[in-house]
Amino acid sequence: MVLAITLNPSLDISYPIETLKINDVNRCQTVSKTAGGKGLNVARVIHQMDGSVVATGFLGGNIGKYIEDQLTEQEIQHQFQHINGETRNCIAILHDQGQQTEVLEGGPTLSVEDLEKLKALLEDLVGAHDVVTISGSLSKGLPEDSYVQLIEQLNAKNKKVILDSSGGSLKAVLNSNVKPYAIKPNLTEIEELTGVAVSLEDLTGLKSLLLGEQFMAIPLIVISLGADGAFVKSGKQFYRVTIPKINVVNPVGSGDSTVAGLALALEKQASLEEILKTAMALGLLNTMEQKTGFVNPLNFDKYFELVKVEEI
Ligand code: ATP
Repeated sequence: MVLAITLNPSLDISYPIETLKINDVNRCQTVSKTAGGKGLNVARVIHQMDGSVVATGFLGGNIGKYIEDQLTEQEIQHQFQHINGETRNCIAILHDQGQQTEVLEGGPTLSVEDLEKLKALLEDLVGAHDVVTISGSLSKGLPEDSYVQLIEQLNAKNKKVILDSSGGSLKAVLNSNVKPYAIKPNLTEIEELTGVAVSLEDLTGLKSLLLGEQFMAIPLIVISLGADGAFVKSGKQFYRVTIPKINVVNPVGSGDSTVAGLALALEKQASLEEILKTAMALGLLNTMEQKTGFVNPLNFDKYFELVKVEEI
């Protein structure tokens, strides 16, 4: 079973409108409101693939209650730490033939006490889970090393942790002695983290970077490359994963879907090839759907077979 942690979930509201009028009234007839935040996308994709998953993290207020009700309705198991603040809304306005304008709330401010309560909840929850995903940004008010603390707690219980974060919270993990089992940065995130421009034509620089102190002790590093698949370090070996060309409908959430694939396959103790093929196939399937963090399981086998893994 997989435990999917999201510290700063959101209710993702999508407003499709023909033309966005600035400084004017925009009316919207069809609204979709989805339990969101990266870890909830991970949980939904695992559930769609018939895997078992429990979603956890922080939720609060009426929006938190709405998210819990939606997860219950969708039969996704959940157990959240409740907070005093209100969970955030994230609004995406889809307009003018393919344009997307977003308004993202920062979310509630939490305290060290909230983090301690979540750790106590994890202590009870985690027993049944072999693989734990930690996704997204930290809530305001939490220390930058919050993920270091969670990974330390989970590593002590021999859980395989997949971390999908960026910026300061990921840097804090890379600079500590506490390492997750896997990370899934995209190319931009790796460049931002290291300050090094990466060339896919000459991977020597990237390879030596990943063999350096910050990354070496992480057993599995999957650098996702959008339509170009992924570049992977497993132990000291490197792999290039390529994917077929497809018609992309909406690529948002593909990273989360990729993490769902890593978690599902790791939980099955699959081979490295199967882990990477599952992750890439699910990332790709997400791009073929309108909804974010959503896949059609009926297409899985076909695209799984089309993903190629090559040692380089
Ligand atoms: P996001 O932040 O939108 O969730 P990401 O930047 O973390 O995504 P990407 O590298 O864009 O992650 O995508 C993850 C995986 O999804 C890719 O490795 C690939 O398998 C699939 N994917 C993403 N974009 C495309 C695309 N345009 N065509 C085919 N597959 C794609």
